Amino acid sequence: MCLKDGIPTRSILSQRINIESNLCPRCNTEPETITHALLTCEESKKVWFLSSLNVRTEPFNQKPIKDWIEYWLLPHNQDPDSEERIRCFPYVACLMWSIWNARNTLLFDNIPQPVQTIHNNALFWANQKEITLEPATNPQNSLPQIWTKPNLGWIKANTDGAWNPNTGTGSMGYIFRDWKGAMISAASIFNDSLISAKETEIRAIWYAIKRARELKIKHLIIESDAKEVIDGLKQNLFVGDWSTDAYLKDIGDWRSSFDQLIFSFRNRNCNETAHVIAQWASQNYASMFWSTAPVWLGPYLDKDANS
Ligand SMILES: [Zn+2]
Repeated sequence: MCLKDGIPTRSILSQRINIESNLCPRCNTEPETITHALLTCEESKKVWFLSSLNVRTEPFNQKPIKDWIEYWLLPHNQDPDSEERIRCFPYVACLMWSIWNARNTLLFDNIPQPVQTIHNNALFWANQKEITLEPATNPQNSLPQIWTKPNLGWIKANTDGAWNPNTGTGSMGYIFRDWKGAMISAASIFNDSLISAKETEIRAIWYAIKRARELKIKHLIIESDAKEVIDGLKQNLFVGDWSTDAYLKDIGDWRSSFDQLIFSFRNRNCNETAHVIAQWASQNYASMFWSTAPVWLGPYLDKDANS
């Protein structure tokens, strides 16, 4: 819509009707073009700065908004980030919308919105897709068959458990990745007295959420191939048997640390990286925590990030 100068900024209005000033009603220093209103006004700049897009809006000052849209959407063969920008565009569009909304709320209702609120609104809209994708009944066929990156602003933790019924030993693995598929944190934790596969899977999720709290993550997706466990968590059933109840109670209590926490079932194909991480402790009879990826994990991370 704004591509055709369809947003009634003052600069456009003043060309059509006689209003007192074409100056931006928020800063009163520059004409309120669409670019100024959405990108380069001081208030708008703060929102872009807060976003994780890592973009500066000043270079677009005085330029038509079309240039900005093209910056995000036109593929450039020479530029490795161009695909990533296209992927981010829904978030960019939501930010623009949220900034315009805030401008109107301030002008017409006289209610200023904090920068953080403007940003959160955009993030919320941008992630509606992720939420509605969650299976309500059993759309098994529509689930992705490969690991997918989380949306911008979200962190995804894949978890897995490896349990040996003959020895009662096992291990729990988790890996946190950001919207670029880059690893943030991972662990493989050995234990020599586990009583079931289910306990092992629940404890893997427990470790992941505990770690997410330490990392102060606010928007988290927990992905696991343990369907029964995930189904229970999605229904807020935080009750287990003697071996799992305490862990489930913790998970229930810890939910409030997050703005959004989503539990998601995926088949094993999508969870292979967490699987090999969990295996590590079982094979080495030891626990390990990583903040940078060990060399042997590289091929799995590359495969996921490029899928
Ligand atoms: Zn302004």
